[in-house]
Amino acid sequence: MTAKTILIVEDNLVNRKLLLTILRPFAYRLLTAVDGEEAVAIASQELPDLILMDLQLPKMNGYEATQVLRASVDTQHIPIVALTAHAMPEERQNAQQVGFDGYITKPIDTRAFHSQIELFLNDHGKSRND
Ligand code: MN
Repeated sequence: MTAKTILIVEDNLVNRKLLLTILRPFAYRLLTAVDGEEAVAIASQELPDLILMDLQLPKMNGYEATQVLRASVDTQHIPIVALTAHAMPEERQNAQQVGFDGYITKPIDTRAFHSQIELFLNDHGKSRND
């Protein structure tokens, strides 16, 4: 069984390190990108099993990067979870319209985070591949 690949897109170094620290004990292959353009490039090349996408990013924001990935046949099926400090209802709706599979609000719950992302790795992958 091969390790699932997760792409972490986060421009903030402290947040990026926190995500890596939380996920490192689990058997994932972890990739990182620091802006939206790099996220699109790495996702297109590596075809990760899950993308964790910060929304406020340099060069191309998380909404734009997700729209680009949804427009490509190679990457349109990849579950993308928004990491957002905005928990307002309109932000949630906006995120769904753009094509996110879900969102996790920041600051993240470090104890719940692993089980939160496992839901997207398992359930969403299955339903989209049916
Ligand atoms: Mn950011």
